[in-house]
Amino acid sequence: MRDVCIVGGGTAGLAASIFTARAGLDTLVIDGGESILARNASLENYPGFPDGVDARRYLQLSREQARNAGAEFELGRVTRVEPVAKGDLEQGFVLETEGGEPIEARRIIAASWSDSEYLVPLDVGRIQRGSKYFVDTDEAGRTAVDGVYAAGRLADEPHQAIVAAGHGAKVGLAVIHDSDANFYHDWVVPEGYFTGRGREVPPGCEEIDDAERRKRDELARTRMLEAFEDPLDEEPTMHPSVEQD
Ligand SMILES: Cc1cc2nc3c(=O)[nH]c(=O)nc-3n(C[C@H](O)[C@H](O)[C@H](O)COP(=O)(O)OP(=O)(O)OC[C@H]3O[C@@H](n4cnc5c(N)ncnc54)[C@H](O)[C@@H]3O)c2cc1C
Repeated sequence: MRDVCIVGGGTAGLAASIFTARAGLDTLVIDGGESILARNASLENYPGFPDGVDARRYLQLSREQARNAGAEFELGRVTRVEPVAKGDLEQGFVLETEGGEPIEARRIIAASWSDSEYLVPLDVGRIQRGSKYFVDTDEAGRTAVDGVYAAGRLADEPHQAIVAAGHGAKVGLAVIHDSDANFYHDWVVPEGYFTGRGREVPPGCEEIDDAERRKRDELARTRMLEAFEDPLDEEPTMHPSVEQD
């Protein structure tokens, strides 16, 4: 039984997984295909990239960051979610995937724009607008069903990558809060920031000394230089209804 299963490894799901995995929750991301962001031609409004970034590279690096944080990945489309024990949501949920073994998880984050059909058996509350269904949530991404959350565009957040990522992080924090993880903030601070004031380092936080800070900076710069060295071969995915030669 996983602590959390995130359905959808796009912008919101990846951000959520980075937070839940870093907080020590056993996190599985199930992804059934491609993020809608793979259709973008140049991502130019995501803070931190002054001249933009290749959206596919951003997705690749986010996946790598989630893996580094301890999240695991499985490919497959989730087709159905039900409680393990009817009437007792504390027992968690079982997720069916196309062609795969059923997966059990205590909590679920639906970050699967634009598919929420698999949630129908749970009656989470879906809102139809045109051909799309959004999942009804509170401000932290909690649905009407305890243990089931929704994040990103599926939760009716604005259709922008940074908003989806920020919302994924927020929903990840709600999951951490609702679990029994001992957590204050996910912060890495300089040595002495807490202990220098006679405080213990709070759960979820880490104090690092200057040598460690320089080591991490070196590692981060080396990886980013390597990651951005060559242009990616991948082309943006075209809208399926555009005819191409
Ligand atoms: C052409 C285009 C250009 C864009 N350009 C920009 C831009 O320049 N700047 C900007 O800020 N935003 C842009 N966006 C918007 C941005 O891509 C989205 O708002 C953002 O990706 C939404 O994130 P999300 O995680 O909610 O959904 P997604 O990133 O789409 O992730 C959803 C994931 O769930 C998976 N999934 C779906 N159903 C299932 C299932 N049943 N089981 C398992 N997995 C499932 C999908 O395969 C996908 O990987 C653009 C969008 C498009 C279409």
